[in-house]
Amino acid sequence: MKIADGLFVIDGTNANVYVFKIGNKVFQVDSALKGQFNKIRSFYESNGLKPDVVLITHAHPDHIGELPKTVNLYSPKVYAHGLDLKVIRGEAKLPSKSFLASVFSAFYRVAPVKDADDTAKLTNEVTVIETPGHTPGSVSYMIELNGEKFIFVGDAAFEKDGRLYVNKRFSLDYLLAEESLKKIESLKPITVLPGHGKPVKLV
Ligand SMILES: [Zn+2]
Ligand SMILES: [Zn+2]
Repeated sequence: MKIADGLFVIDGTNANVYVFKIGNKVFQVDSALKGQFNKIRSFYESNGLKPDVVLITHAHPDHIGELPKTVNLYSPKVYAHGLDLKVIRGEAKLPSKSFLASVFSAFYRVAPVKDADDTAKLTNEVTVIETPGHTPGSVSYMIELNGEKFIFVGDAAFEKDGRLYVNKRFSLDYLLAEESLKKIESLKPITVLPGHGKPVKLV
């Protein structure tokens, strides 16, 4: 589904997978839950595109599940931040807040992607904003398209009924996550594109 000129959300994935174009470069944000790669591939096939860069907001399985297949098929550059990058590379595990969360992670275990870089190496089309709390390495990616600002926040903010909130249950450090949400809100005017829910335009 088209959100704005050059900006799309791929239909039917969880969490949301966003795709945007700057110049001829195609960027993808996150890579859904394992088992949803067909949605990603059919989006690219029907639009005649392929991702050059994949930006990961954080290393939860619903955001990196189809990263291995995406990398195998399209060979994009992959970026993530801090501890979450180590999880993607298979060098560390995210601390689990609960037994249920650890069972969930084990069930949806994702094969390591070694060829992933730190967001510090990202070039200037995208502004990286640290928004920790949900996970230690949660980051947001801000872009400007046709004079409008957009920010992909992953799970730093969830959306319900047009409002943004921090998901207490799934955030490792709730207070830090609340601060990160304030940081995101201070960037207005901006459209926030969450990992779960619909875009929220802050004016
Ligand atoms: Zn999520
Ligand atoms: Zn998450």
